[in-house]
Amino acid sequence: MSQRFYVETLGCPKNQVDSDKLIGTLLADGMSPTDDPSAADLVVVNTCAFIDEARKESIDTILALDDQRQEGARLVVTGCMAERYGDELAEALPEVDQVAGFGVPLQRPASAANGRNLIPVTSAPLPELDLLNLPRPRSTSPWAYVKIAEGCDRSCGFCAIPSFRGPQRSRDIEQILTEVDQLAAREIVLVAQDLASYGKDRPDELGAGSIVPLVRAVSERADWLRLLYLYPSDLTDELIDAICDTGVPYFDLSLQHVSKPLLRRMRRWGDGDRFLRRIADIRDREPDAAFRSNFIVGYPGETEADHDQLLRFVEEAQLDWCGFFAYSPEDGTYAYTLDGAVDRGLMNDRLAELREMQDEITATRRDALIGRTLRVLVDSPGIARSVREAPEIDGVIHVGQDVVVGEFTEVEIVDALGPDLVASGGAVPEEDDD
Ligand code: SF4
Repeated sequence: MSQRFYVETLGCPKNQVDSDKLIGTLLADGMSPTDDPSAADLVVVNTCAFIDEARKESIDTILALDDQRQEGARLVVTGCMAERYGDELAEALPEVDQVAGFGVPLQRPASAANGRNLIPVTSAPLPELDLLNLPRPRSTSPWAYVKIAEGCDRSCGFCAIPSFRGPQRSRDIEQILTEVDQLAAREIVLVAQDLASYGKDRPDELGAGSIVPLVRAVSERADWLRLLYLYPSDLTDELIDAICDTGVPYFDLSLQHVSKPLLRRMRRWGDGDRFLRRIADIRDREPDAAFRSNFIVGYPGETEADHDQLLRFVEEAQLDWCGFFAYSPEDGTYAYTLDGAVDRGLMNDRLAELREMQDEITATRRDALIGRTLRVLVDSPGIARSVREAPEIDGVIHVGQDVVVGEFTEVEIVDALGPDLVASGGAVPEEDDD
């Protein structure tokens, strides 16, 4: 029988893409997948190092899988934590057999006969074998993420990503299109650290603005195309038109804050007025456009006036979806050296106030959809999404169990429950009391 592998993925969609590619190489190597970690010969944890909480979850997962693995199975840790804290991780977790950075080939159990084989990576240069262009198996769900670039050329004050993911490296358009064809998914979701900058690192071949032809080419190959993480300064008229033309007018704007002085302390572009104008521009072109954004709360130096500006913005912008995250100090970042730390209790109060306001806005916007007929893609039995909901991130639409998974269908919305909608024939599953 072939050797079996189990992969646990933590963190963001970009990590999911890396895991898919890793799975593609393991399958190509003749291994077979298992859902049961205790039956696997190779157990891989693809970690996330974004904030303290994510790091803790990664460590807990590694330890839990160590308990579950069968004797002789190899435990490998990869992903952002391996990349960023390779040496420390290898030292702190002797139960791990291999700590592998991005694109480092994983060793199979047979080669573990002589014990651990650590590959510390923190001081290593960027890997030559990049996970970016590895083959991917056909998507098992109706939608799939596709990563179009790795790394980031910006230097946002709070962010450690460029220090361990490296500068931006855009993929060839042809390779991206081949991957889209291989996945054969109804919906493609493009991801990268800084999506709209695609191509800027290869000015002669691709160049600034090259996301636009890419968007047009991918949308010819998939029914729906969605773009995540758009830095606001790169949201050009051409890009807005290209997104609207795909038929999925969904705008995920990476705003982070709206106070101009605070944004400059974050080493980021823009301010609330510019953002509001851009959102209004988009709504002029496409009144039914859906918006998502993320904001950091409690960045060093955030004053009461900054917070009030953010509240006013949230009220005025009426975005469909917003995520608010507590600032988390990251070693090695510019913000780590800044004074003006915001008290944890105050940060939590600000978060609660913003979330409460946005929850009401989201609920009102969802209520407004009652009575409308929407085209939806069915993700799993009874669960679907329209263009307004990104997979795994936003709400869902409950549809009848009889609607075929992987197909598009038209449904009438009859109810709204917070972020979720209910279509005629759909039902919200009963809560489990246990
Ligand atoms: S754009 Fe800013 S926040 Fe996003 S990955 Fe790059 S440096 Fe980090």
